[in-house]
Amino acid sequence: MDKVIGIDLGTTNSCVAIYEGGVTQVIPNSEGSRTTPSIVAFTPDGQRLVGNIAKRQAVANPSSTVFATKRMIGRKLKTPEVQRMQMTAPYKIAAADNGDASVVVHGRRYTPQEIGAFVLRQLKEAAQEYLEQTVKDAVITVPAYFDDSQRQATRDAGRLAGLNVLRIINEPTAAALAYGIGADSSGTIAVYDLGGGTFDISVLEFSQGVFQVKATHGDTFLGGEDVDARLMDVLLDSFMQETGIDLHADPVALQRLKDAAERAKIELSSVDETEISLPFLTADANGPKHLRRILTRTELEQLCEDLIAATIDHCRDAMSAAGVQPTQITDVLLVGGMTKMPAVQRAVQHFFNRAPNRTVNPDEAVAVGAAIQGAILAGDVSEVVLLDVVPLSLGIETSGGLLTKLIPRNATVPCSITEVFTTSEDYQPLVNVHVLQGERPLAADNTSLARFELVGIPPALRGVPKIELTFSIDANGILSVSARDLGTKREQLVRVRATSGLTEGAIERILSEAEQFQDADRINVELADIRRRIQGLIYTTERSLGESANYLTEGELDQIRADLENARRSADTADLNRIQATLRDLEKSAFRITEVMYKDFS
Ligand code: AMP
Repeated sequence: MDKVIGIDLGTTNSCVAIYEGGVTQVIPNSEGSRTTPSIVAFTPDGQRLVGNIAKRQAVANPSSTVFATKRMIGRKLKTPEVQRMQMTAPYKIAAADNGDASVVVHGRRYTPQEIGAFVLRQLKEAAQEYLEQTVKDAVITVPAYFDDSQRQATRDAGRLAGLNVLRIINEPTAAALAYGIGADSSGTIAVYDLGGGTFDISVLEFSQGVFQVKATHGDTFLGGEDVDARLMDVLLDSFMQETGIDLHADPVALQRLKDAAERAKIELSSVDETEISLPFLTADANGPKHLRRILTRTELEQLCEDLIAATIDHCRDAMSAAGVQPTQITDVLLVGGMTKMPAVQRAVQHFFNRAPNRTVNPDEAVAVGAAIQGAILAGDVSEVVLLDVVPLSLGIETSGGLLTKLIPRNATVPCSITEVFTTSEDYQPLVNVHVLQGERPLAADNTSLARFELVGIPPALRGVPKIELTFSIDANGILSVSARDLGTKREQLVRVRATSGLTEGAIERILSEAEQFQDADRINVELADIRRRIQGLIYTTERSLGESANYLTEGELDQIRADLENARRSADTADLNRIQATLRDLEKSAFRITEVMYKDFS
């Protein structure tokens, strides 16, 4: 098999790695950097810039420099997070025809998949140059909370970049692989991921190579850029005090300040004090103005104390959602550039009461894990089996409005399950397949994922046609459902695209509702069950009545018809006792018909 690259397609930075000769290598980009900003810019003369070069000109060309599109990928414009971006992003965000969020630059619309593809293509080219061969196959990572649409969209971005995406894996799982976790042991780990624009904390349980995300929490608008922004404000204020000049409207000065702020922040992770020096930042009638300021680590830490505290609050929430005490955590892994900051490491160590594992470069851990997964797929590594599980059951709506589960919660992916179903009415020309996800017994209480029809079923009495339904989940957690009429061999297939995101929080809520509504659900199931029985009996009684009417007295006929009518009416109510009573009466009528039919043979 060809080489498989591992890609961390990040919100702020992306990284590509490869497993070669028993070790993983992070592949530097054409400028020699090990990570590439996930930024794409379009210049007025029609050039497209990607990565560092796009980042450098961002402030001077704000409306045509696109960044953080990962927050929009596979999402509708009306999603709250996209709405928030729309309010603050310097570039234009608008809805595509299908309502998905997209970006408009110089009058041309780009989907977040296309923007992602530009970044991916850059990484692919870097890998090709490094390996001196064509690269096609890749493993790409996504946040654990990404839903089916977001995963599909990420896969599409890969395809647009000319990549064959072998697998999409969860970022915390990739990090765990990079840290060498999961081969043959078991335990619970916390992956603390603080990057440039987002924070995620994931609690993962693993056993014999199976990773299960127990909880993810975080903030998609919390990261290193917030620290840089605070530092910039300090610099802008002190410059204003010293010179009386407000630099807010000077894009070139702002760009230099932003870069200097980030550089100072990074330096203060290894030294206690640094000097910010920006000569010739601006000028007034008295000549050029320079900015010079000494910044200490203590000052920086005070500036962002509350931001770090907010991440710890999320850790607390994630632990309680996972039902785990900090002492039960067997390892804490650090991911994301911001975790190099000593104050962040101290806060994490204090909360979990254990030193975080720092053996892998946190900027690169996710890409390294993706490369290891690539090597597993290529057959170069065999010790680790990486598997994920289905977070919620998947099934279809069956008669009586019930959810019939085909794939149970926690089934290991990839998996495929086939079951045979039939029609519920005579001469039914089509079957409606309603695909659902959830744990509640009534279909209406679960999340609807897709609906489709299998048409052209030949005329037949109910129960006769045989419809084979197959649910398959691939290794990326993407569901395909197919329905096949075994008689006509006609087939319908849908790849299910969830219309809304299911975060770990949502999964938790669904599970706790399933428990909370257990009693009410039991009554509803009983009701659905008895309705199904009474409708079945109405159907068979009507049919046999037609065949045996001549052998029954007028009185008997009237009684049977009245029982049928009462049964029909009661079936529409939610009155369990009434349905039970009319069912009993109808059973007597049905027996009477059977007696008459068989009287000559007794
Ligand atoms: P990521 O999104 O994981 O690439 O993280 C990028 C963020 O980490 C940016 O805000 C960087 O400024 C920040 N970062 C990178 N290296 C360091 C460092 N040594 N100390 C503090 N922050 C850093």
